[in-house]
Amino acid sequence: MRYMSTRSGDEFFSPSEAVLKGIAPDGGLFVPESVPKLPFAPGKCPDMTYRECAQQIMGLFLDDYTEDEMRSFVEEAYSDNFDDSRIVPFRKAGGAMFMELWHGPTMAFKDMALQILPRFMTAAAAKNGSDEETVILTATSGDTGKAALAGFADVPGTRIVVFYPKDGVSLVQERQMITQKGANTCVIGIKGNFDDAQKGVKTMFTDEGLNELLKGAGFRFSSANSINIGRLVPQIVYYVYAYQNMVNEGEIKAGDEINIAVPTGNFGNILAAYYARTIGLPVKNLICASNKNKVLYDFFRTGTYDRNREFYVTSSPSMDILVSSNLERLIYHICGGEDSHEKCASLMAGLSGSGRYSIDSSMEERLSMFCGGYADEEKTAAEIGRLFKESGYVADTHTAVASAVLKDYRDKSGDMTPAVIASTASPYKFAPAVVKAIDPGMFDEDPFVCVDNLAKISNLPVPRQIDEIRIPDIKHDRVCDPAEMDIEVKRFLGVL
Ligand SMILES: *Cc1c(COP(=O)(O)O)cnc(C)c1O
Repeated sequence: MRYMSTRSGDEFFSPSEAVLKGIAPDGGLFVPESVPKLPFAPGKCPDMTYRECAQQIMGLFLDDYTEDEMRSFVEEAYSDNFDDSRIVPFRKAGGAMFMELWHGPTMAFKDMALQILPRFMTAAAAKNGSDEETVILTATSGDTGKAALAGFADVPGTRIVVFYPKDGVSLVQERQMITQKGANTCVIGIKGNFDDAQKGVKTMFTDEGLNELLKGAGFRFSSANSINIGRLVPQIVYYVYAYQNMVNEGEIKAGDEINIAVPTGNFGNILAAYYARTIGLPVKNLICASNKNKVLYDFFRTGTYDRNREFYVTSSPSMDILVSSNLERLIYHICGGEDSHEKCASLMAGLSGSGRYSIDSSMEERLSMFCGGYADEEKTAAEIGRLFKESGYVADTHTAVASAVLKDYRDKSGDMTPAVIASTASPYKFAPAVVKAIDPGMFDEDPFVCVDNLAKISNLPVPRQIDEIRIPDIKHDRVCDPAEMDIEVKRFLGVL
């Protein structure tokens, strides 16, 4: 496998180089030169464990790691650090199959990739003869930050800096991050939103002066965001696994198509589903669910991406994003033809200039498997209520957005193809909004009272990770303006 930038096709990178760099030198994202094919017949491996599936799928895309390396990374990453021995359990509710991706250490789906990425990264440094210390720069809308911190804390040869929107994450999300232990960790709140954080991080990646300065001091940057191909590849695994589960549960026969609904922010998770489809998984439609920040819904409806609009802080903060980075990869793939890199680069230049771009009709045709939808705050709350009332299922706010959008899609299109919903976070991470939606009388201004009330409502035990942050032992309290992010990084690395 070789990777290249979405914006130029004249340089190739091995999988481990792409993991190590995170983002291409020209500011584009790494994409595979050609997409491999599933190494087994989908739905015909009833006894396949998550680990077996992971090893096969990741081995396809990241083929310069040896089989032994891949096996040991997978065994370490998907083990008793998950609170369910199946790693990814499924639950049928409200007419769809919920794929629970949040049984890892930080209770959001980001763990699925971030428990293994540090292992890829460390091995990649060795493979590529790099003796520099890797500095992971991360922008987070709430969940990536903690998952990346948990993955990289005290990993030799790495340091990690996380920027989060100071007033744009849930209390539980913030506490999880600012209590992070580990001498190589740094967490900073910024006076801005996720897009500001992501833009600041991307600017640092391509800032030549800064990169030179760091090189001199023995450091190099990389990314733990889903712009890193090492984040995306582990996310393809669970869609293949989900398909097998649909067969095992008798929901479909091997070979039948499924639909997949994904609550979307930075477009990483749903892009992984698109890749699963591209390698041969029988997937009919990909249902891209947005919250009130519905820039993607508008894009799929009109062919124009336009980030010039109001930004809303919602009850699903991990999806409060107006610049969905990974859409660039999809744009590249649908460009088609000889000049796809140039075409993609020029559209992305439009995005960073005027904040908008439009795709042509031939590109729109290649998007036909995507259906966009959105759920506002009211609709999301109503869906949490409906799922609980009809099935006793407690969904978090993000998952409920996807469930509401799937329901809408089915009502409007009549397409009742068996569907998998990516369930992306534990409801305990967003207890106040969930409690309010299920039983407003149980709501309280204190998020931890809501946690206890959610336990009463749901009969699910309060996770240990939540109990640990009731009385926070705060390790990080820095706050900065988006324009000062590079100064904060230099200070942490001692190169100021
Ligand atoms: C990150 C996140 C999302 C959005 O995923 P993307 O890959 O950014 O589209 C949805 N739900 C939760 C809970 C998340 O943490």
